Amino acid sequence: MNLDFSPEDQAFRAEVRAWMRDNVPQQVGPSIGIPSHKETQFAWERKLGAKGWLAYTWPKEYGGPGWTATQQYIFDTERALAGAPPCGPFGLSMLGPVLMRYGNEAQKQRYLPPIARGEEFWCQGYSEPGAGSDLASLKTRAVREEDHYIVNGQKIWTTQAHWADFIFCLVRTNPDGPKQQGISFLLIDMATPGIEIRPITTIDGHHHLNEVFLTDVRVPVENLVGEEGEGWTIAKYLLTHERTSIAGVADSYYQLGRLHEAVADDPVLSQDPVVTRRLATLEVDLMALEYTNLRTLDRVAKGQPPGSESSGLKIKGTELQQAISEAQMELGGLGALPWLTAAEDVHTVFAGATQRYNFLRASSIYGGTNEIQKNVLAKLLQL
Ligand SMILES: Cc1cc2nc3c(=O)[nH]c(=O)nc-3n(C[C@H](O)[C@H](O)[C@H](O)COP(=O)(O)OP(=O)(O)OC[C@H]3O[C@@H](n4cnc5c(N)ncnc54)[C@H](O)[C@@H]3O)c2cc1C
Repeated sequence: MNLDFSPEDQAFRAEVRAWMRDNVPQQVGPSIGIPSHKETQFAWERKLGAKGWLAYTWPKEYGGPGWTATQQYIFDTERALAGAPPCGPFGLSMLGPVLMRYGNEAQKQRYLPPIARGEEFWCQGYSEPGAGSDLASLKTRAVREEDHYIVNGQKIWTTQAHWADFIFCLVRTNPDGPKQQGISFLLIDMATPGIEIRPITTIDGHHHLNEVFLTDVRVPVENLVGEEGEGWTIAKYLLTHERTSIAGVADSYYQLGRLHEAVADDPVLSQDPVVTRRLATLEVDLMALEYTNLRTLDRVAKGQPPGSESSGLKIKGTELQQAISEAQMELGGLGALPWLTAAEDVHTVFAGATQRYNFLRASSIYGGTNEIQKNVLAKLLQL
C-alpha cells in the first residue's frame, strides 16, 4: 500500500477519504465475509449509489463514475480502511460486466441503472445439488413455450436469495449433446410464482444461504442473455470477475492493520518475535497479492477480461483471508472465544474473531473451490 500516486490521484484519495470519514455509518461495521443485516447494508449501498460511487468499476454510460484502474483501487482501499464492508457483488461485479458484454440494449437499459443506484439486488443461481465443481452437469430445465421459458429445478447455496429482487440462473435448454452446449443464462424475477426459498444456516450462525426451488416458473424469452446455448461461455466470463472480486486485498489490509494495532497494545504479544514474524509474513504475502491484483484491475479497466489470473488471485486471496482470521483468533486467545462480542478489556479485533474464522472456511469453497482453481491454472501451463 505504498504506491506512488500522481498529484491528481492524491487529491482524489483525499476526497474519497474525507467522504468516507463523514458517511460510513457506525452500525455497518467492518466485515470480510457476507453482510448479515439487510437494512443497514442496503442503506449504505443506496448512499453510495446516490453519490454515483456504488458501481465504482463501471463506465459512465451505465451509471458508474468512469474511473481509471488507479482510482478504482484507491476507492476500494479507502472504503475498506474506513471500516465499511464491500458491497453485494452479484449485480455490481458479476451481472453488470456480463450485461455490458453479452446483454442486448433493452437489457442494459432495464437492469444496469437500478443496480448502480442500489435499488435492485441480485443473487446467483449457478450451483445445484450434484452440480458444484462440475457445474456443467446442472439439471434445472428451461423449456420454451411460445414467448416464455418454463423453468423447473433446484438451486442451492444461493447467497442472499431471501434479499434479492432477481436471480441470474444457469438453466438447461437442451438436454442432448455435449453438456456445456445445452446451457443458457436467464434473468428471473424472484416475485414470479413458483419460486420457493428455504434458508440454510451456516457455521457462523447466520442465514446467508438458501435453497431455491423453481416449479413451473414462467420467464419471458426477452430475459435470455445472449443466444440460447451460450450460457456456459457467459458463465465462465462471469466467474473470472467473481474470482477477482473475492481476492479481497483491501479488506485483508484492514483486518491485518487492526491485528497490528491489537498486538502493539499488548505488552506480551508485542515483545514476541514469533508473533512479529507471523505478522510480517502475512504482510509480505499481501503485498505480493496486491501487485497481481493491480495488474488484473488494469486489464479490466482497458476493457479486457480478468483472465486466468483471477484463479491465482482467488486462491491466494482466500488463503490470506483465512490466515489473517486464524492469526486474529489464535492471538486473541481466550478473548477471541466469545462468538459475537468481546469482553470490555479485549481489543475489538478479537471480538467476533472466532465467528469470522469459522465463516471464512467457506472462502476457499465459494466462487469455485481452490482445488478447482489449481486445475484451471494447471491446464493453462499445459498450453
Ligand atoms: C458460503 C458460500 C456461498 C455460496 N454462494 C453461492 C451462490 O450465491 N450461488 C451459487 O450458485 N453457488 C454458491 N456457492 C456454491 C459454491 O460455488 C460451491 O459450493 C462450489 O462450487 C463447490 O461445489 P460443491 O459444494 O458442490 O462441492 P463439490 O464440487 O462436491 O466438491 C467437494 C470437494 O471435492 C473437491 N473436488 C471436486 N472436484 C474436483 C476435481 N476435479 N479436482 C480436485 N478436487 C475436486 C472440491 O475442491 C471440494 O473440496 C456458495 C458456497 C458457499 C460455501
